[in-house]
Amino acid sequence: MASTTISFYERVDGALHDDSLKTALSRATERFIGNRATAIGALSDEAALRDTARAIRAGALARLDELLVQLAANVESRGGTVCWASDGEEARRYIAQLAKDRGVRSIVKSKSMASEEIHLNHALEEAGLEVVETDLGEYIIQLAGETPSHIIAPSIHKTREQVSELFHQHLGVPLTDDIPTMTQTARRELRQRFLRADMGISGVNFGVADEGAVVIVENEGNARLSTTVPRIHVAIMGIERIVARMEDLGVMLQVLARSATGQKLSVYTSIISGPARKGEEDGPEEFHLVLLDNGRSKILGGQYAEALLCIRCGACLNACPVYQAIGGHAYGGVYSGPIGAVLTPLLQPDLPEAYMLPQASSLCGACQEVCPVRIAIPDMLLRLRADGVRAGKANPVEKAAMAGYAMTMNNPAIYRAGGRAARLGSRLIGRRGRIRRLPPPLSAWTHGRDFPQPQGSASFGEWWEDRERSRQK
Ligand code: SF4
Repeated sequence: MASTTISFYERVDGALHDDSLKTALSRATERFIGNRATAIGALSDEAALRDTARAIRAGALARLDELLVQLAANVESRGGTVCWASDGEEARRYIAQLAKDRGVRSIVKSKSMASEEIHLNHALEEAGLEVVETDLGEYIIQLAGETPSHIIAPSIHKTREQVSELFHQHLGVPLTDDIPTMTQTARRELRQRFLRADMGISGVNFGVADEGAVVIVENEGNARLSTTVPRIHVAIMGIERIVARMEDLGVMLQVLARSATGQKLSVYTSIISGPARKGEEDGPEEFHLVLLDNGRSKILGGQYAEALLCIRCGACLNACPVYQAIGGHAYGGVYSGPIGAVLTPLLQPDLPEAYMLPQASSLCGACQEVCPVRIAIPDMLLRLRADGVRAGKANPVEKAAMAGYAMTMNNPAIYRAGGRAARLGSRLIGRRGRIRRLPPPLSAWTHGRDFPQPQGSASFGEWWEDRERSRQK
């Protein structure tokens, strides 16, 4: 479970030594990567579709104020209520008060990263309400008392064996490694909760301004039940998750499903525009839309505004070699992986070590390559690193190391002497082309992998000079 009481390094270290985590992550990320590649590869013009998706999102952000007002007016004209929440506290207070006013006792929730961001469950439980997560992954981690470790697959860090153990402990069912059996167990448990819930809370994948509608995509049907069976539906939407027109959905839904799970479309796409109307049998009596700012309007218009294009598909997490090795909890914030390393310092700047997250990247660019809206994540990570240094957050050892590096790179004599010393040292500690252990602080590298031993007795520069000399002879 993510914890801010232990340091980032300790969390990373724990993750790197967790064999179950390794198994669970490699099983899941390999599957996601393969499915995405097949689904994207099947498109006749993937590049054009992604360009269009980016243009739609960028166009919506450029008119965000106007579109939000339009969305809110249209929701209200269809009988819904809109809450403008400037931060998590306002959103929590609104929902808790609504539950109190309406005599709500039991709440079912479908997956919502925005609700995770504002720690909604905790606040509602403190107010004496029963809150049950109904997405299978969320249900699993709720039983485990943990937080999501992936944007679209919250329990990606759990093996099926661990899930079986959890169900055995909490639900009293026999141990099994048969996934359909476990799914049936969860389904049986949850069905009762849907039927007795007074309020359903959901996230929002897209708000559609011209229709006054919210769009929720899912594969399990739990969001549809959460939003239609209880008498009150509360949808929580980050203010940036908006598109201008219903036509835009044709593009956005395609890139979301293909990038997230490798599907052409998600199994269920619900477009909800207000409470049930007169004569309609299904749907809630009340519909509330919470428009959550929580730091987003500060990002808008600044050098990190591009991060708001994100449609939370999770593809960058799956593609990232760092995420693949450490999973989501090591990041410490609600959002993990490459986009989490950008969003957390921006949305949760007070989180201890938020400054460290942009360092947790090899800047290989795999995240940008798979992003359906082409967000330049590596550029933003570099800028965040520079911001951290300017804000005096770099530790003294790192600063001294960088000063030493700059001095070495600017002085050929020191550079050559350093290279000779390193080659000599590597001959003493390396075996068969590999160095298994380096002294601190370089041990941080060899802790998880070998270091290649420099080959030959000359540096590249020396080899090049020799070559040039012999060519001139
Ligand atoms: S940054 Fe791009 S790839 Fe990552 S979750 Fe957001 S939209 Fe998906």
